[in-house]
Amino acid sequence: MTNQTAVNNIPASDDCQPPNQYSNAQTLLNNIPYIAMTMLGSAILALGLADSVWAWIASIGFLLYGAVGALWIMVFVCPYCRYWNTRACPCGYGIIAARLRNRQAYDRFAEKFRKHIPVIVPLWFIPLLAGIYSLIRAFSWPLLVLLVLFAIDAFVILPMLSKKHGCADCPQKDTCPWMGGRNVKSAAASQA
Ligand code: SF4
Repeated sequence: MTNQTAVNNIPASDDCQPPNQYSNAQTLLNNIPYIAMTMLGSAILALGLADSVWAWIASIGFLLYGAVGALWIMVFVCPYCRYWNTRACPCGYGIIAARLRNRQAYDRFAEKFRKHIPVIVPLWFIPLLAGIYSLIRAFSWPLLVLLVLFAIDAFVILPMLSKKHGCADCPQKDTCPWMGGRNVKSAAASQA
């Protein structure tokens, strides 16, 4: 396996023993909530702005933002992850990331996560805020249904999958701001 070898002059880690090896079908399944969130968000923007020339621009722009956001994580976060270029990455980004960049230092993962995760955070809030605003302006049942589905997917299913499924067995969860934020904050406080 690739993490048994040195890449880019960075020594391999012997303490990373990926607990799972995801098949292509599992990887595809694990991507469905993010894809669903992007598509639901795009539909909310299209429906919410239906009376505006911006409807399709916003809708297609949101789809592109979702795709670029995933690529951004692959380029700027995944090379620092212990699951880079392994099938232990639940969503397969780690495999794609290996085609884009060489492995980087594991101990900078938390720093890179903190720096780059804000790039994709608006994906969770743009449809929500735009949808609520549109509902207040002109109530519509289809828009409300889309908004509820989006909220369940983005704020319940996606975090639950990350914490219970992908991240639960991750060897760097204690330094990951998503999974072990309290540990990172207490370490930072003790150094201050
Ligand atoms: S587990 Fe997360 S950070 Fe690690 S390679 Fe996969 S998507 Fe990237």
